[in-house]
Amino acid sequence: MRTAGIIGFPVAHSLSPVFQQAAFEHSGLDVRYEPWATPPSALEARVRSLRWPECLGANVTIPHKEAVIPFLDELGGQSARLGAVNTIVNRGGRLFGFNTDGPGFLAALRNEAAFDPAGARVLLLGAGGAARGIAFALAEARPATIAIWNRSPHRALRLAREVGAAGADATAVPLPDPGGFDLVVNCTSIGMHGGGAERASPCRFEGAIPGALAADIVYRPAETPFLAAAHAAGLRVLGGLPMLIFQGALAFELWTGVPAPTDVMFEAARQALRAEPVA
Ligand code: NAP
Repeated sequence: MRTAGIIGFPVAHSLSPVFQQAAFEHSGLDVRYEPWATPPSALEARVRSLRWPECLGANVTIPHKEAVIPFLDELGGQSARLGAVNTIVNRGGRLFGFNTDGPGFLAALRNEAAFDPAGARVLLLGAGGAARGIAFALAEARPATIAIWNRSPHRALRLAREVGAAGADATAVPLPDPGGFDLVVNCTSIGMHGGGAERASPCRFEGAIPGALAADIVYRPAETPFLAAAHAAGLRVLGGLPMLIFQGALAFELWTGVPAPTDVMFEAARQALRAEPVA
């Protein structure tokens, strides 16, 4: 029996144990995936425990994505540039950090919405941790432009500068106005169940291009006010669950070298969400 798990605080709400366990079982791998609730004071010891030979590694979630970095040996992919890790892989006792959020979002766009960001005009709403991962992943996919709006403008300005330095045509914009964009992504927590702004949308869609794609990364509830407003205005919509599954699928493949059974992971996650009490 080998182990993997998710390090966060709290982690009880996480869907990762549900769909990662289903993926291991479907793939015939003898791995137990556990929720590892870890207060900040216990983080170093928890990360040290990942070096044991029976441990494949871990996912990392709020509030530890940045704090784990000093305890790792090497950073791969975009994680060094982002300053945030969501996946740790144990390779012979050495710990490698990765960030699969941005690549997971791109996989969701391509696989679930048949959307290719190359040449697209993109509006990102938000400039927090998830927005950063998505912005850098999008930048590599050669969009025409990336516009970034954020409630706190200085964070949008900083992210636009960094993404611009990575080679994209990126600007911070003062208003969340989807007009003229092919892809609008909600990377804020607005609309998230229990998040304090759950009945709100970060933008309105008057003047948006009909047939453009609106993607939310919030996945509880499945239809957020942002997605409902986009749908009503004639846009195509993509919810947040595919990003969650594909970031997890990429982590699964980093740990095991085996293709992730994404259909099985989707089904397990959807079943768990259906079983949750309605708010
Ligand atoms: P974060 O780093 O805390 O960033 C939060 C973002 O939301 C910031 O841009 C913040 O703006 C903005 N925001 C929060 N409340 C707001 C409000 N009332 N009005 C306007 N803007 C507001 O969080 P994160 O890790 O990026 O996560 C953001 C959301 O994405 C969460 O709902 C999370 O669950 C979801 N997520 C989903 C996936 C997935 O796989 N589907 C992965 C990661 C995250 P300020 O900068 O002004 O505070």
